[in-house]
Amino acid sequence: MTTFEELGLDDRLVKATGELGFVNPTAIQEKAIPVLLGGTKDFIGLAQTGTGKTAAFGLPLLNLIDVQARHPQALVVCPTRELCLQIVKEIELFKKYMSGVFVTAVYGGTSIGLQIRDLKRGVQIVVATPGRLIDLIERKAINLEQIQYVVLDEADEMLNMGFQDDIEFILKNTPQRDSTWLFSATMPPEIKKVSKRYMTEPVEVQVGKVNT
Ligand code: ADP
Ligand code: MG
Repeated sequence: MTTFEELGLDDRLVKATGELGFVNPTAIQEKAIPVLLGGTKDFIGLAQTGTGKTAAFGLPLLNLIDVQARHPQALVVCPTRELCLQIVKEIELFKKYMSGVFVTAVYGGTSIGLQIRDLKRGVQIVVATPGRLIDLIERKAINLEQIQYVVLDEADEMLNMGFQDDIEFILKNTPQRDSTWLFSATMPPEIKKVSKRYMTEPVEVQVGKVNT
């Protein structure tokens, strides 16, 4: 069986996964992590719920960001506040042995002022739901100029919830985006449409059975 060391991750990330009780990578992690670390620009990862997709993108993001620079470099977009908080929590655990990494959550139904304050302090990774993120973009309270990585997590859920236009708006407002990673449990035609429009020859990895 493969280990996290063998996937090419930074030792500090390997140590943190070990402490979380992750012994072996899941199938989607084993396939996605080396590809993403290897500089693949556009990526589609398809795997069912509960297969460890958060670490499949979270660990490579932590490995790739520039910790010396305190501006948003990676943007993770997900459908709900709960998921947003869960992703931030997991990334916080993964980055335990890395200093200088800052992550923040951006979601609706709570004070925007506090989120603006957190963003002003300087973060490299922003995890956001579409509505609040667009609010921040329109208020010019978030700087997306230097976002290189955009992750669309639970892309099928976001499209089901009617976020297609919002996602396209976000993708159009990340001028330096050179990597777009899409994760989903299913592959409906709407996702194909988004990927055709905004991704270039994505590497597609599928684990198990995936419905269209
Ligand atoms: P998904 O996004 O695919 O639904 P998650 O990323 O939320 O899945 O992971 C589901 C659960 O599995 C989480 O509790 C996570 O901490 C755990 N997990 C992820 N990867 C591993 C691993 N390699 N070994 C053990 N547990 C893991
Ligand atoms: Mg998930």
